[in-house]
Amino acid sequence: YQAKRQRRGQLVYSGDSDDSGPMRLRILQELHSGLEQGQMALHYQPKLDLVTGEVHAVEALVRWSHPERGLLYPDSFLTLAEDAGMMRRLNQAVLTEALDQAALWHRARRPLSVAVNLSPSSLVDADLPYELAAMLNQRGLPAEALEIEVTEEFLMSDHDRTREILTRLRDLGIRIAVDDFGTGYSSLAYLRELPVDDLKLDRSFVFPMAEDARAAALVFSTIELAHSLGLHMVAEGVEDQTTLTALAENGCDQAQGYFIARPLAASALDDWLATRERTIRAP
Ligand code: C2E
Ligand code: MG
Ligand code: MG
Ligand code: MG
Repeated sequence: YQAKRQRRGQLVYSGDSDDSGPMRLRILQELHSGLEQGQMALHYQPKLDLVTGEVHAVEALVRWSHPERGLLYPDSFLTLAEDAGMMRRLNQAVLTEALDQAALWHRARRPLSVAVNLSPSSLVDADLPYELAAMLNQRGLPAEALEIEVTEEFLMSDHDRTREILTRLRDLGIRIAVDDFGTGYSSLAYLRELPVDDLKLDRSFVFPMAEDARAAALVFSTIELAHSLGLHMVAEGVEDQTTLTALAENGCDQAQGYFIARPLAASALDDWLATRERTIRAP
């Protein structure tokens, strides 16, 4: 494993070099102790409902609050966790934290749904539906408090098994979203059969919309496609007002992006929501 600098100044661990290196070993140890010591933190990014202008859901995004290296982003440690077989523990930590937070919000009469990104390895685990049902139960949360995001790429890879697990999750009342939609070559026939509720259009399609009419046209027809399949469309990576307006005017159901809000720690999100409510209520 190689450690190199990334855009955001984070360490990146890429699996393409000698994986017996001392660096990999050290990072693995750090990841182990990081998980044990609760160094994983979640940031929450609002999903804006484009019809009502309200926020009823947030996406949980994991960060590693590393004692020496500072805040690390998922791109810099998820591959390592996956390769080292630590993904199950990471997912468990994320789900626990996300549902604890959802329970706090529900008790504070702010019934936000929390969307959790699940890695492929956890979605082949037949116990997952039972575990999630139990976790919701323990906290007195309705199933609607939890959403699951799975990448399109993964959904395409393991049809029967995946479909079975997703169906059981959905029967519980948990919403399922296809993440990074547009990057994974789903066949339309397959999409129609998949037990999913939302398509999250990848930001590589959303980002060029404001500048490029053809990119915008592609997005608008994808919104129609989603609706004709009975699915909701969520746009990710909205970075400007023009894009947000165009999405709302063309029937997109929800949007996420830096223009609306960056992923925020729970307390910062509370402040953001409170400020928004004050502004909206003001004459
Ligand atoms: P994702 O689920 O597609 O999440 C969206 C990513 O885009 C997030 O990056 C978010 O911070 C970023 N983003 C949001 N709005 C904008 C925008 O307007 N512009 C741009 N340029 N970026 C935006 P992040 O937090 O670094 O997460 C990266 C990926 O890591 C996620 O992609 C997801 O696949 C994965 N991930 C994050 N948290 C978890 C987790 O708890 N478990 C698992 N298994 N995967 C996770
Ligand atoms: Mg996601
Ligand atoms: Mg995505
Ligand atoms: Mg992504």
